[in-house]
Order: sequence, then structure tokens, then C-alpha cells
Amino acid sequence: MYDVKKIREDFPILSRELYGKPLVYLDNAATSQKPRQVIDALTDYYTNYNANVHRGVHTLSQEATDLYEGARTKVARFINADEPEEIVWTRNTTESINLVAHTWAKANIQAGDEIVVTPMEHHSNLVPWQQVARESGAKLRIMPLAEDAGLDMSQIDQYITSRTKLLAMVHVSNGIGAVNPVKELAAKARKVGAAVLVDGAQSVPHMPVDVKDIDCDFMAFSGHKMLGPTGIGALYVKRETLEEMDPFLTGGEMVLEVWYDRASWNDLPMRFEAGTPNIADAVGLGAAVDYLEGIGMENIRQHEVQLTEYALDAFKEIEAVDLFGPLESERRGGILSFHTDIVHPHDLGTFLDRDAIAIRTGHHCTMPLMRSLGVVASARASLYLYNTEEEIDCLVDSLKRALRYFGDGTR
Ligand code: PLP
Repeated sequence: MYDVKKIREDFPILSRELYGKPLVYLDNAATSQKPRQVIDALTDYYTNYNANVHRGVHTLSQEATDLYEGARTKVARFINADEPEEIVWTRNTTESINLVAHTWAKANIQAGDEIVVTPMEHHSNLVPWQQVARESGAKLRIMPLAEDAGLDMSQIDQYITSRTKLLAMVHVSNGIGAVNPVKELAAKARKVGAAVLVDGAQSVPHMPVDVKDIDCDFMAFSGHKMLGPTGIGALYVKRETLEEMDPFLTGGEMVLEVWYDRASWNDLPMRFEAGTPNIADAVGLGAAVDYLEGIGMENIRQHEVQLTEYALDAFKEIEAVDLFGPLESERRGGILSFHTDIVHPHDLGTFLDRDAIAIRTGHHCTMPLMRSLGVVASARASLYLYNTEEEIDCLVDSLKRALRYFGDGTR
């Protein structure tokens, strides 16, 4: 049985109080909280194993290397990659996508080619492709939004065509919570010979994700959104694609042999990891993966679906609020992005904060999407494995009071 009370006990920060009230943390799409198991793994690493990896013959270095590479193996298994070598450590989703833009895209995208993205990309999966298009002369094409703010699949074949070289798409939108049919879209891209990149920043932490089942070339995600530390992320690259790619950054660690006038490249994936890596945080991410697997990604998804349905029902009763994104819970992640004419999202965020409720307000790094929805900003509550129905009640109660207060001045 899913025991949310027991799960909450693993997260020390969740027992904090703000303004005399228990913290209600609903900003998980921005970053997740960390369980004691992850915090302990970091302390244990620095207390007992700290050394540089891959270069030392001494025992500490070998132990640190085992922990570091062990974490890579865990992350590979977590998304069902064929082998750990298909996981390149990065700082975050943004760096993962930029790595592809600066290596694979430079070598493969030319004038006349098309890069296709969804209308709900985070700036991280939009701006790098704007740059690639500008530099290569390729065209960037934006798929259309449907009425319910999901992806309009009816026109997809006009976008994914023989000119498409890359389909780069967000799996779960951080702006409106829509879950995109990435497997179906990847199959269409494969048919026309295009490569497929999936931004998994909001899916890998929240649901079972299988890179082989989706059949993508690249999957980017961040450790800090999946209970891990900040500063560590990953890029999955299918082996055959990775083998063809030139290095991103150059220097130590990524080379095999160096002469004064040239160098040869190290094995995969070290070829893409120049310099001393973020060892401790990779180990911390490995502990986060252990924790998530211990609960089960299917169970986490179910918990979030139930909680989202509970929240959607409660939101239906608040007339002054428009909720963005598809309404069916299977087509959305645990992200509730909403707008009201009564109060600016920032004022609402400040009001909720005084009730110890942490939500995000703003454009969520999806400015073009917000413009398409006719707003400059939204308020966003985002759920995770430790959130409860009682916390949704707190949100709804505080929201109703805020609407009264900003609407007619009564509390
Ligand atoms: N893509 C999506 C869908 C996101 O939600 C985010 C972060 O909010 C990112 C990319 C960027 O992640 P990071 O800031 O960890 O690089």
C-alpha cells in the first residue's frame, strides 16, 4: 500500500513550519525536496570516500570510481537504457540539450532541414534549436496547440515530413502539465528518418519512462527534480548515435592519448565528460534512483494521478479560475497551472506563501506558450510523491480566500 505518511517522514524539510503553519510544498516542477537517504549518501560520500575518479591507483579513488560508475548504472537501468555507457553526466536538462545542439546538431543539421518542436517547450528545448536553425540555415517549426492546450495531433503529418531532421519534444509540459504522446510522435519521426530528442525533465521523475520503448535517440533530464542534488543531470544517447558524435568540451578525462599537436578521444561516455566530474552529486542521484525504485514509479504515477483528479474536482468549483491543459488525468502530469483575472499570479503566490504554501508564479520558462494561452504568467502548483489530499485542501482554501480578498476586499 502507498503510505504517503511514511514517505513524508523521509523528507526532513517537510516538517518545517513557516509563519506558524506547516509547509505545503507544491513547487516540485521547479525542484523536488530530498529524502534523508539522498542527504545521507552525500554525507557518507564526503565522509568516507571522497577522491577523484578514474585516475587514481589508490583505494579511495577506486572506491569513489565504483560509486560514481555505480550511479551511472542505476540511472541507465532506471530509464531502461541498454548500457551505462549510454548515459552522459551533465549538470541538468539544459546542459544535456545544449550538448546535443553543439555536437550532433552541428554535424547533422544543414540549410533546408527542419527542426520540429512542440508549442509547449521549456526555453531549454527551444532556444538551443533557435540558435542551431540560425547558424545552419535550417527551419524551426512549431507544432500547433489544440483547443484544450494539449498538442494538436490532427495536423502532425504536415509538420513531421521528409524535411524533418530532428524532432525535439517535451514529454510532460512544465507549463500546463500536458503529457505528449512521445512514442507515437517518435514513430512518425523514425518513418521519415529524423532523430528524436525527448525532454524528460518532468516525466522521468514522475512516471515509468523507457527510452527503448519510446525509441528516442536522446533523453534529457535533471537530478534535482527527481529527489537528487542540484548540479547533476543526465543525457541518454542511443549507442549508435553516441558513437558518431564529436566531443562537446575538450581537456582532461575525455582524451585517450595526447601529443603536442593532437589528441585521441577516450571511450564512451567519458569522451563527453571533460574535467573532474560532479562525483558526489552523481552518487546522490544514484541514491535518489534507489529511493524512487523502492517505492515504484508506477505507484508514484498512480499517487499523482489520484491527487491530480482530486485537485481537478476541487478546481471545478472555483469559477473565477481557468485551469490550463487537458482535463483527463491520464493526459496530464501532476501540474496545475491556472489563471484568474482577479489577482496577478505574483500577488497570489505571496498570499499563499503567508499560508506556508509554496507554488510557482510566472511564465515557467515557457514564454511563447503563455502568450499562446493569452496570459503573461500563471500560478502553478506541482505535485510529487509526498503530497497529500490535505495539502490540496489547504491550497484550495487559501486560493478561495485570496480570490475573496483581492476580489471584494473581504477575508
Ligand atoms: N525542461 C522542462 C520541461 C523543465 O521543466 C525544466 C525545468 O523546469 C527544464 C527543461 C530545465 O531544467 P534545468 O533547469 O534543470 O536544466
